[in-house]
Amino acid sequence: MADSQKTLVLLKPDALQRDLLGQIVTRFERKGMKIVAMKFIRLSEEMLSEHYSHLADKPFFDSLKKFMMQTPVVGMVLEGYDAVNEIRKIVGSTNPREADAGTIRADFSMNVPSNLVHASDSPEAAQSEIERFFTDAEVFNYEKITDKYIFGEGV
Ligand code: UDP
Ligand code: MG
Repeated sequence: MADSQKTLVLLKPDALQRDLLGQIVTRFERKGMKIVAMKFIRLSEEMLSEHYSHLADKPFFDSLKKFMMQTPVVGMVLEGYDAVNEIRKIVGSTNPREADAGTIRADFSMNVPSNLVHASDSPEAAQSEIERFFTDAEVFNYEKITDKYIFGEGV
């Protein structure tokens, strides 16, 4: 998997409440993305203030943080070619009503903040977000027998 990239995904409280965790994870799996880390995270206000610092001056900042603290979230690190862009494509636009049909947000949701998924929006963000939510020991490097078919090495 030379040149592969890692990205961070959070499955938000609405995904958990609506029993959509499995269907969302399946969308990443069927693309071929490798799950290299996965756990429940109880987000704190401090973590969210950092994670959503680009939205600190928005009127919805406090309610967004409250929404994200309603239940634990599922944090995942996914690995694959162009993982940051590819996962953003699969997730869809922030506003589910502007997201393309076939994306997670368009297919399963209708409004913000309840758009089900967070995904890093740049390689730099991915690196700092992975470090924010996971220790090095929680991110795994392992081989799957399907690697050569999905990643095209040694086929
Ligand atoms: N959000 C919201 N109202 C808005 C814009 C965003 O509640 O008008 C929430 C929504 O849950 C979104 C999150 O804030 O996913 C982070 O916003 P960002 O602009 O970073 O969008 P994303 O990267 O999640 O697509
Ligand atoms: Mg964002």
